[in-house]
Amino acid sequence: MAKRDYYEVLGVDRSADKNELKKAYRKLALDFHPDRNPDDPTAEEKFKEASEAFQVLSDPEKRALYDRYGHAGLEGAGHRGFTNMGDIFSQFQDIFSDFFGGSDFFGGGFGRTRRRGPVQGDNLRMAVELTLKEAAFGVKREVSVSHPGPCESCQGTGAEKGIQTTCPRCHGQGQLAQSRGPFLIQTPCPNCQGAGMIAERLCKECNGRGQVNITRKVKVSFPEGIDDGQTLRVPGQGLNGLRGGPPGHLYVTVRIQPDPRFQRDGDDLYRELHVSFVQAALGAEVDIETIDGEVKKIPIPAGIQPGETVVVKKAGIPHLNKGGRGNLIIVVQVDVPKRLSSKAKKLLKELAETLD
Ligand SMILES: [Zn+2]
Ligand SMILES: [Zn+2]
Repeated sequence: MAKRDYYEVLGVDRSADKNELKKAYRKLALDFHPDRNPDDPTAEEKFKEASEAFQVLSDPEKRALYDRYGHAGLEGAGHRGFTNMGDIFSQFQDIFSDFFGGSDFFGGGFGRTRRRGPVQGDNLRMAVELTLKEAAFGVKREVSVSHPGPCESCQGTGAEKGIQTTCPRCHGQGQLAQSRGPFLIQTPCPNCQGAGMIAERLCKECNGRGQVNITRKVKVSFPEGIDDGQTLRVPGQGLNGLRGGPPGHLYVTVRIQPDPRFQRDGDDLYRELHVSFVQAALGAEVDIETIDGEVKKIPIPAGIQPGETVVVKKAGIPHLNKGGRGNLIIVVQVDVPKRLSSKAKKLLKELAETLD
């Protein structure tokens, strides 16, 4: 079948500049994208035809050759069209990514697996440590999220500057044919993993893997009252979706650092308070720092026993997502002096006689 004129395929003037070419190709790529035309078997052919036209006309050298000698000129110069959709994808990945807002237009597996619909990106999970005070009153944090993503340097191709060449082993077919008895067995080419193209030189940024570790900063708001082990969902901060699917979410699990002063139980806080046996017997007013960082005067009633508690209402942890706070529960410990001065001994003996 005679090949159509490339300008005609794209529907542009012979003087069209690069932008006009891109615009025309974009429209055709959208119209004939095989995913959008599952019932039209010719769509893939039209898509390939437009891709080939764009490939030639957007390359000044090839375009000059084509303008002078037509299709024959390109063939004479060894130009080959695309062998499969994966080819088109790897060559025009950067164009597709600004066309469709994601490098996943083809999902990377085009031409090998049959296409499915949009897929939501994977979720990411991480843990963040907060102090007890941050958990009590809430805090905004910028967290670092690391995950694999396409290498920008090679646009995910793994090839230095994105330059790829036809795989010499399979001549761009992506498949190797072996005769086994009467059968011809096709196996994916191990040299190019079935892509048909290989890197001329490996990209130095990603060592040819096409992927690098990407670190992003994400702002996370921890609400007041959040507890150890609870998980926040940060919508849309997971991995990018495939084929136009929405991104996944980021799940952040809270770990609360142990606090040397307070023990948390739900929204109540426990704190030990040491008083002397005289203070316990006579009663006292003692300064105590609360979780807010304020110093409060706490009345210790006369005659309090070791292990008894004094409750300070609403000085605990704010309740999550509803008003009010838990309590601060002070557990009184009575210290008995280990050494006494002779004067103190004398006074205590007198006290003992009085109490008898
Ligand atoms: Zn790279
Ligand atoms: Zn190969």
